[in-house]
Order: sequence, then structure tokens, then C-alpha cells
Amino acid sequence: MPVSRFLFADQLGPHFDDGGPLLMVEAAGVLGRHPYHRAKAHLILSALRHRVRELGDRVEFLHAEHYRDVLAGRDLEVVDPTSWGARALVRELGARVLPSRGFVTSEVEFAAWAQGRPPSRLVMDQFYRHVRTSTGLLMRGPDPEGGRFNFDHDNRRPPPKGASGLGLPDPYRPVEDDIDEQVRADLDRLEAEGRIRLIGQDGPRRFAATRAEALTALADFVETRLGDFGPFEDASLLGDDAMAHSRLSVPLNLGLLHPWEVIDAVVAAYRAGEAPLQSVEAVVRQIMGWRDWVWHLYWHLGEDYVRRSNHLDAQTPLPREFLELDGRTVRARCLSHVLDEVGRTGYAHHIQRLMILGNWALQRGYRPAELTEWFTNAFVDGTPWVMPANVVGMSQHADGGIVATKPYASGGAYISKMSDYCGSCTFNPKKRLGEDACPFTAGYWAFLDRVEPRIRGNHRMQQSLAGLRRLVDREAVVEQERTRTEW
Ligand SMILES: Cc1cc2nc3c(=O)[nH]c(=O)nc-3n(C[C@H](O)[C@H](O)[C@H](O)COP(=O)(O)OP(=O)(O)OC[C@H]3O[C@@H](n4cnc5c(N)ncnc54)[C@H](O)[C@@H]3O)c2cc1C
Ligand code: SF4
Repeated sequence: MPVSRFLFADQLGPHFDDGGPLLMVEAAGVLGRHPYHRAKAHLILSALRHRVRELGDRVEFLHAEHYRDVLAGRDLEVVDPTSWGARALVRELGARVLPSRGFVTSEVEFAAWAQGRPPSRLVMDQFYRHVRTSTGLLMRGPDPEGGRFNFDHDNRRPPPKGASGLGLPDPYRPVEDDIDEQVRADLDRLEAEGRIRLIGQDGPRRFAATRAEALTALADFVETRLGDFGPFEDASLLGDDAMAHSRLSVPLNLGLLHPWEVIDAVVAAYRAGEAPLQSVEAVVRQIMGWRDWVWHLYWHLGEDYVRRSNHLDAQTPLPREFLELDGRTVRARCLSHVLDEVGRTGYAHHIQRLMILGNWALQRGYRPAELTEWFTNAFVDGTPWVMPANVVGMSQHADGGIVATKPYASGGAYISKMSDYCGSCTFNPKKRLGEDACPFTAGYWAFLDRVEPRIRGNHRMQQSLAGLRRLVDREAVVEQERTRTEW
């Protein structure tokens, strides 16, 4: 039998296909391992089956409980997969392993850049500058286009006052077909048989699951949202789930789009005078910087990075509201809104993940490893490689400062400035004591009080800790949050 290229379910685009015979497997056992969001399970199966249909008789398509059941003993070739577990499997199977694809920089290039740098000197911004310089993207000779590598200073605008949304057209949404209908029926059956457990609500598919849909979603983003991406990157509005975000993480992480395709498209819009540099550079940095960065850190920081990281000694188990994606009984408007949105769609934009969900978990001391697993299962774009640096590092500071130099903790005042959430909330973002004390504002101080001994040496936290020491009602706030039952 000739060697077949085995494609994992996140290797679905043309850049994983070199023209030879292909092998794909739908492994029901993989879906049964965790309580996934229904929209996520749907996307994975839909994307896989659509690719199989497209490839026709070029692909051998097998069903199994586990990959090993049908792959053992076969002569295989693979593009190096994206998780520690999958890499161990393909090596155990004796497959010929090709270097990974689907990122801007190779693992060899990152290793050369990181060599000799201790973990505390691995700074995303420096890596990003290195990639911009070495690729020559948005560069004029040795200098960055526009004189700066980063235009965040011009971005980070609050949402327009009084607006319920940014007023952009609805983002592209695919039309479901017979494959989606069959996927839905299969998920219902597997769930009824007790073979899988799903969370979140069902609903028509919102994200691209085919190459054609991915290209349409990219073109739609460039045409309708790119210009507003930079300025409103950090803003949130109750009436606007997408804001100016691209929602391209799903097709990117399924391997349907190559990151260079997104980068080339946004840079072409800039060159054509159709999008400002402050937005284009912001998208380029998210993809060429952050996305590649967290990918490389997944390997660089080691397989036990999540397990061994709990710098702030966070020991609270995740509450039911998170596990069941149920914001109905949550009074904090910001949190109930985002939990409901994730329950409905499996998606929330970056600042909702960081400023609301991550910030809340940080303040309440949720266990970082449990939180990482929750994000991976509950989000349509969640993958094993994307979560550790984002959750453990960036949002929970559980690695003690490798990914982020200080904890991303903020009180209600910042949430109030960057969103319209507080206007319809029963809590008051300005209050830290009393019945209507905002649980984010009071929670911020209670958090600092709890972790003070562990962050005392962090020079970036000195101002916040000085504020804590000046707090006249510190004890009362801490006690209020320790015994809080309503949030
Ligand atoms: C707590 C937390 C959890 C996250 N979970 C995920 C996740 O499950 N999957 C995921 O792909 N990203 C995750 N991110 C990163 C980021 O929030 C998402 O990539 C982004 O919100 C996806 O929506 P979008 O495509 O509309 O992104 P946009 O805002 O339009 O950004 C464009 C693209 O940049 C890339 N990107 C931007 N920031 C990051 C980042 N920090 N890490 C990796 N890629 C980035 C993504 O590919 C994204 O599609 C997480 C971040 C945090 C703080
Ligand atoms: S007042 Fe506090 S809890 Fe309510 S929406 Fe604002 S930040 Fe969230």
C-alpha cells in the first residue's frame, strides 16, 4: 500500500495537501473525552466531512472510536500535529513526520530566536519586531511603516457614546447544508446514547467550516470591519457581539486559512488606501505576533506548563454558571452577558475573554488548569496549543510573569469606560462597599489583598499595592467579598 498523508481535523486547507493519497479519520471517542460546546463539536465534524466531500476519491475516510484503532500498522506520513498528545501518537505509530505548517514562523526559527533567552526575557513585542524585520512586512528598509511597530496608542478607544453597536453590517454567516443537518442528527444521537456530553445551545452554524466559506469570511472582514478593528479593539457593547473583530480564529485554527492569507489581504487593503495603518498593523500583530507567539510558547514552555503553574495559589473550583454556560442567575450584567453569549455561540471577542471572564476568574481565584480546560471546551476556536499562554499566562498570571509581566486585573471603572455594560447593571462600578458594590471593583481590592505577598516584588504592581495599603475600608471590603453570595 502507498504511504498516505494522514490529515488531522485541524489540517483542512490546501497548505496541508501536497497532492498524494490522503487519509482522514472521524474518531467519535475524541468527542467523548470532554464536555464540548455543541457549536464546537458541530464545527469540527462539519469541517471534516466537508473536506472529505471536496477531496472525493483522493481521500480514504475511516470511522473509528480512536485514531489508533485504524492507524496502527499503516504506512503514514503526517504534518507534525498541534498537541503534545497527537505528536506522541504519530511518533508511536512510526509515521514519517514533516515540519508543522499553518503559522508564520517555523519552530526552528523560534528556537533560534529564543536560544539563550531565559523565560522572563521572552517578550512578545520583541518577537513581533523580529518577525516584522525578518519578513520585511510593513517595513521601509530597516524602519517600520509609519515610524512605529505598534499603533495601540491611537487605538483602545471606548465605544461610541450612546450607541448600541458599531453600526457595521452583520458579519458573514454561512448557510448550512445537508452535511450540517447530518452532523446535528449524529450529535443528537451520540448524546442520547450517552457517548458524548455537550454544553451550550444549538443554533445555525456561525463560523466558516469550508475553504470557500473561510475565504468569504476573510473578504467580508476586510470589506466591512477592518477599518474599525484598531480603534475599537478593546471596546464592548451589549448590542454588538462581533464589534469589529474578524471571527477568523475558527478557520485559522481548523487550518482552512493560512495566516499569511489574512496578513496579505489586510496589507493589500492598506496599500490600496482602503484601510488605515493603525487597524492593519493591529491585525498583523494579532496574527504574526500573538498567534505565532502562543503557538511557540506551547512547545517551548513544556508539556507540564499548565499543571505546574499556579503562582497565585488559586484554588477555587469553577462554579456551575461557568461549567453550564448559564448567565441567567448572574446579576453582574457584564458577566451574565458574556456567559450567555458563549452559551449561545461558543464565541466571545478577545476583550470579553480577558477583561470579563479571565479577570473574574483571576479575582475569584479559579484553578488555572480547570479554567484552561473550560476555555478549550467552551470556545469554538479553543485548541490545546492556544490556551496555555492565553489563559495560564496572560489572563491568570499563573506562571509568575513569563507571558505577562503583571496580573491582568481591573475593577469596574475600566469595564464601565470600555463598554455599556454598567448602565443596566444592578451594581455600581464606583462602589466597593454595600449592597450595590460592584463585584469587579470590590473583587479587585480583595484580589490584591489575597495575593499581596506573592506580587510584592513585582515593580509593575507597586502603585496598585500602595493604593491597597491606603484603602481605609480594606478589611470590610475583603470580608464582603469573602462572604459574597450574590454576583
Ligand atoms: C482567556 C483567553 C482565551 C482565549 N482563547 C482562545 C481560543 O480558544 N482560540 C483562539 O484562537 N484564541 C483565543 N484567544 C485569543 C483571542 O482572544 C482570540 O484569538 C480572538 O478573540 C478570536 O476572535 P477573532 O477571530 O474575532 O479575533 P480578532 O480580534 O479578529 O483577531 C484576529 C486574529 O488574531 C489571532 N489572535 C489574536 N489574539 C490572539 C491571541 N492572544 N492568541 C492567539 N491568537 C490570537 C486570532 O487568530 C484571531 O482570529 C484567547 C484569549 C484569551 C485572553
Ligand atoms: S457595575 Fe460591575 S458588575 Fe455591573 S456591569 Fe459594571 S463592572 Fe460589571
